[in-house]
Amino acid sequence: MALEKYKQKRDFKKTPEPEPKKKSSRGQLKYVIQKHAASRLHYDFRLELDGVLKSWAVPKGPSLNPADKRLAMMTEDHPLDYQNFEGKIPKGEYGGGEVIIWDKGTYHSPLTTNRKRSEEVLAEDLEKGNLIFVLDGKKLKGEFALVKLRSSKINTGKQDNAWLLIKKKDEYASKEDITRQERSVVSGKSLDEIKSDEDAAVYGEKEKLSKKK
Ligand code: MN
Repeated sequence: MALEKYKQKRDFKKTPEPEPKKKSSRGQLKYVIQKHAASRLHYDFRLELDGVLKSWAVPKGPSLNPADKRLAMMTEDHPLDYQNFEGKIPKGEYGGGEVIIWDKGTYHSPLTTNRKRSEEVLAEDLEKGNLIFVLDGKKLKGEFALVKLRSSKINTGKQDNAWLLIKKKDEYASKEDITRQERSVVSGKSLDEIKSDEDAAVYGEKEKLSKKK
């Protein structure tokens, strides 16, 4: 089951994160990048595919410069509802710390904008470890690739989930440091503002929390 690992790592009585439920969006496939102040700051890059969000943790965040290769560690699938999650994961829980929605939008295969065909191509590319896609977000646009690093004698075991996130050359390629645009594209808040915001834990999850009380 695709969300089994997600479920195992979390206690849903303690975290405001969404429950592990498979579902698909409507229209174009969705993507989200969350900036996450966990024990180490990183960006969580998530692409909707087959009813879940395929996920990579990118320590340095994305770059618009095709010369940059950003390490992206593949992590467990997340539920689609996670795309709306912004707030605080309680200290001591898995991934404890603040989360903002740093970027969001839709994406498709460079070969087609048809959702069904896109999903077929992308699923095959993911399997091959060479995923190419076009983002249409608020901060990121244009073609990107996620390329799986092959395990070698030097890179063994632990490196099995290592990928590289690379901007392809197109009209959106740039030397601008996009991570300097640090605010949420949903609330306009920075991670520090979420941290000092008493209500932040309930963004997008107000109903769920009130049901639990
Ligand atoms: Mn994370």
